[in-house]
Amino acid sequence: MAEPRILVVGGGLAGLACTMRLAELGVHVDLVSLVPVKRSHSVCAQGGINSVNALTRQQGDTEWKHFDDTVYGGDFLQHQPPVKEMADWGPRIVDLMDRLGVPFNRTTEGFRDQRRFGGTLYKRTSFAGATTGQQLLYALDEQVRRREVEGLVTKWEFWDFLTPVLDERGRCRGAVCQDLVTMQFRAFQADAVVLASGGNGLIYGRSTMSMVCTGSAVSRAYQAGAWYGNGEFIQVHPTAIPGADKLRLMSESARGEGGRVWVPRKPQDPRDPREIPEAERCYFLEERYPKYGNLVPRDIATREIFDICTNEGLSVEKDRLCVYLDLTHIPRETLDRKLGGILEIYEKFQGVDPRSMPMKIFPAVHYSMGGLWVDYTRSGDGGMLEGSPRNQQTSIPGLYAIGECDYQYHGANRLGANSLLSCIFSGLFVAPSLKAAREEGSRGGEPTKLFDAAVRRQEERHRELLSRTAGTENPYDLHQQLGGLMTRVATVVRRNEQLADAYGEVCQMEERWRRCAVSDTGNWTNQNVVFTKALGDMFPVAKVILKGALLRDECRGAHFKPQFSMPGIEAVEPAAKRAEAERWCDRFEENTRKWLKSTIAACGPGGEPDISYQDVDTSLIPPRPRLYGLVGAEVIEEVWKERQAARSAAEGLTGGVGVAVAAP
Ligand SMILES: Cc1cc2nc3c(=O)[nH]c(=O)nc-3n(C[C@H](O)[C@H](O)[C@H](O)COP(=O)(O)OP(=O)(O)OC[C@H]3O[C@@H](n4cnc5c(N)ncnc54)[C@H](O)[C@@H]3O)c2cc1C
Repeated sequence: MAEPRILVVGGGLAGLACTMRLAELGVHVDLVSLVPVKRSHSVCAQGGINSVNALTRQQGDTEWKHFDDTVYGGDFLQHQPPVKEMADWGPRIVDLMDRLGVPFNRTTEGFRDQRRFGGTLYKRTSFAGATTGQQLLYALDEQVRRREVEGLVTKWEFWDFLTPVLDERGRCRGAVCQDLVTMQFRAFQADAVVLASGGNGLIYGRSTMSMVCTGSAVSRAYQAGAWYGNGEFIQVHPTAIPGADKLRLMSESARGEGGRVWVPRKPQDPRDPREIPEAERCYFLEERYPKYGNLVPRDIATREIFDICTNEGLSVEKDRLCVYLDLTHIPRETLDRKLGGILEIYEKFQGVDPRSMPMKIFPAVHYSMGGLWVDYTRSGDGGMLEGSPRNQQTSIPGLYAIGECDYQYHGANRLGANSLLSCIFSGLFVAPSLKAAREEGSRGGEPTKLFDAAVRRQEERHRELLSRTAGTENPYDLHQQLGGLMTRVATVVRRNEQLADAYGEVCQMEERWRRCAVSDTGNWTNQNVVFTKALGDMFPVAKVILKGALLRDECRGAHFKPQFSMPGIEAVEPAAKRAEAERWCDRFEENTRKWLKSTIAACGPGGEPDISYQDVDTSLIPPRPRLYGLVGAEVIEEVWKERQAARSAAEGLTGGVGVAVAAP
């Protein structure tokens, strides 16, 4: 048998972690990336990485509680075994990164410092100032370079993944990629291909994500037959700097270090914010969510900020929606030590020092919980079975997905600082599965004609694009229109009529894309044609997002349709309150039966998404109402607990039972 060879597409945290572990296992890796791996979007991650730690353990925290916070925060939409496994690995991953040299902040005693992030009451987040992603990425990059020198890794930076190559049985045998300098095409034969290609924020035009986060690789895999899971779940981060070119994140770590969100009680109060007395400020998150305060999960904080500006008319500015994020009560030295990276960003782009003046922020598209559907094998203890070739495998055998581009870990809403963990975890965990997959799928070398034909198809597509000089559409204008539309209808608040109309508009835009003119027809570093291709691949995913959102008639995590919201309890008299809580729980149960399902999109023959649903494995922690700050939460919780106890008694259950994970 020839030496095993794996193709990893993407050199962010997920791709580098996977490459590092594969090389440790003696497997050769071809690592393809649009940008130099050290410039992958992961380098922008700011606030930190979660795991249970010595400090939180003293307060009663456990891996199970981390797991519980993650599935509760994600509104129970993720299969639980992979999430449990990830939470179990958390402490080892942070220790590993520490040993690899990540300069995590330390306390004066020399212990790793921790901060609190949203959706938990524990300080689980390790951080390196406010540039955690950069420090983690550089540490993994060093390890991968070491293996490159040893000859186990070959890097292909400035290469674009164009399509997986499938054999006649539908198994992935490699991929076709394009050199973005010489514009040459090349087929990579591989025993397995792993996509670690990150998020797709560019579908929304402006977002907090890097400008290479087009989602092109995922879209190409989807169009080749891989299923897309939970596409409609897009995270809108509560705190970003609005900008004309892009939206820049002000990390949740600002609130984790004590930052407070507020608006003046008087609409558009013209005074300098520092002169507005406490009594005339509305700290709306603290008032409405006393337990979690400014650190409620992101979907909730985002809706509150959106609501206070749009419905309550309390935006700080009249012509631009924003609220204050205030750090001015925290000593400057602390701010510089713990948040330096993000404060510099604010200062640079707004020209204001956030150490002495409250920042103005507003929500922005930030993260995609959805992504390529991936499988797993459940282990005996309820986690994931290490080494199973099914782990992280897409619906195309031999094609895998890890990191932000899979749909596996965050359900309907991701908790802050859990993504860096899921990226590194899925990267490390998948490596032995890839080795096993190779053994399972191997049948010797593939005929070169399979790859030659795949390369030829890409060359033809490329030539066709270059020949469109007389086209009437401008790809950059079209992209702005797509982004504007998606931001308007598929972010914080969603309405069926708008989603249905938008779907039609996106189909028209896709048609218009076929008439895009490419102004640069050269064959040397042609960014114009690369962008135009990526734009063409945004439409199929935009349609997955819109159709999934249109069909999902409920509110869950980041997906909010006012028509289906379940407000709190209005009654005040105890018996009436109780009766209302019973009705609330009935409705919750009915909704769970109907909608606690993953949305699975398959690309139909005409390019339209065929949607089906898959049951979610919630066998470890039974779903319960998400009650953060809801009026009447205590009585709903009381009713819910009684029902659960009665159910357990009736079924004689002490824990969960296994649920088979079936393909849709
Ligand atoms: C501003 C910001 C701050 C964040 N801060 C945090 C935080 O503090 N904590 C946390 O947990 N999460 C954070 N997140 C989320 C987190 O940064 C990302 O989810 C994570 O870094 C994604 O890593 P990844 O390895 O999956 O992909 P990425 O780091 O995005 O890497 C993708 C790779 O794929 C390559 N690629 C893409 N398309 C192609 C193609 N067609 N061909 C070839 N290569 C391709 C790219 O070149 C790149 O190498 C933050 C997100 C943002 C936007």
